[in-house]
Amino acid sequence: MLMDNKNEELELLRDKVRDVTTQIMCNVQQRIDLAKKIGEIKSRLGIDIRDEKVEHEVRMNVMLLAEEIGMSGEFALQLLNILLAESENVQVEKHPQKTVQKQTHLSIFAKAKQLEASGKKIIHMEVGEPDYSPPAIVGSTLAESFRLQQYHYTDTHGISELRNAIARKEGGGLSEHQVMVTPGGRFAVFSAITSLLRAGQELIVIEPAWPAYKECADFVGARTRVIGTTLQNKWLPDTKQLEEMINRSTKMIVLNYPNNPTGKVLDSKTMERIVLIAKDHALYLLSDEVYGDYAFNGFNSIRKYGYEKSVLVGSFSKRYAMTGFRVGYSIANKEIISKMAKVQSAAVTSVAEPIQHAALAALGVNPSENVKLMERRLEFVCSKLKEMSLQFVEPDGAMYVYPELPWSEDIPIIEKLLEQGVAIAPGSGFGDSYKRFVRISACQPENVLGKGLDIMASVIKEYA
Ligand code: PMP
Repeated sequence: MLMDNKNEELELLRDKVRDVTTQIMCNVQQRIDLAKKIGEIKSRLGIDIRDEKVEHEVRMNVMLLAEEIGMSGEFALQLLNILLAESENVQVEKHPQKTVQKQTHLSIFAKAKQLEASGKKIIHMEVGEPDYSPPAIVGSTLAESFRLQQYHYTDTHGISELRNAIARKEGGGLSEHQVMVTPGGRFAVFSAITSLLRAGQELIVIEPAWPAYKECADFVGARTRVIGTTLQNKWLPDTKQLEEMINRSTKMIVLNYPNNPTGKVLDSKTMERIVLIAKDHALYLLSDEVYGDYAFNGFNSIRKYGYEKSVLVGSFSKRYAMTGFRVGYSIANKEIISKMAKVQSAAVTSVAEPIQHAALAALGVNPSENVKLMERRLEFVCSKLKEMSLQFVEPDGAMYVYPELPWSEDIPIIEKLLEQGVAIAPGSGFGDSYKRFVRISACQPENVLGKGLDIMASVIKEYA
């Protein structure tokens, strides 16, 4: 008898849950329909899809409501972010400019390759791929690995010898358990973002920025919030604005210094402030340091701050010109590394064993010649850009210069340059607000860079 009553009660509750679910679904659809209408108006008026001020007001209302009805504020904001993302998706469909495929350094690279295949000569100043060779020992070690039959699955985290060598390189009492060898720095970024963030949570990116951070966040439905920096302010992020952007669904700040595309390195005061903000709000701090070797006057690695929720991303790609070897690493505490290792294990098992031995051998080589060469080339690019009277901040590091052009759009001039046999990267690939900029990569010998920049100067003259 008691059993029957219980079952009845259970069925009643389930009916109610079905009703509430139906109501929620209908309300969500109503919201999407409204967003579509708003999208049409925005498209007609040429207004941006995302409006931070409006979002802020909605967020505040939701927080108040959550408190009133006894819902967790964090969960409420996560739900809101899922709704906001869907509104944005339906509005993109209505927005003609946004449906056009965005041009990035990679899409320009693909176009340049196509032109080359049809017989045209192209000067490549669009991709960040050093033209020099990896250390010779890398080749001999690969051959040796084959002879020694070192070509098996390894521990997902990587072979111990390499993890220990990376730990020694990064210094300060690291253990191998805080290191994971990854297929390139890119996969370290991917596994960090996808394992540490969930749908509806937020991460903050400082723009202009390498586009992969947002792409990785999109994979898990996390929302990317953006702090813009400006040439006038020497690409320095406003830490007050950063702190104001944080809410209960914010989980991560992404840093990338030396920066791609600006070459900026943050001063120690700003770094300290950002670490403190991350600490105060218990945020993960993802520090992409793949250009760490190319810092001409030193830089402040996240390792200096001993912050337990930091994730450092490193790579062999730029340091040793080993882009095609696909080997990088991440450094974090054991708990974070074990979360990231789950993604890596599911996706790729481990980095190829011979490549790990080659990377270990490379670590014995000092990359200072590569660094000096890059610094000289960047100085050369800067001197040519000055002759063209373009505005830019001289890079503190990395492999790029990011000048402003005297026009409102980067794409027409980039296409014109491609016709003339020069490939450079559109500034807008690093953030929607940077259409006036282009990124010039110094990964070619000086005489080649010189030729490319001379063509650029003549096209600019013709265009002006
Ligand atoms: N981070 C940044 C900022 C980059 O520019 C790149 C490569 N362009 C990477 C990470 C990834 O490099 P890789 O995967 O070759 O190590």
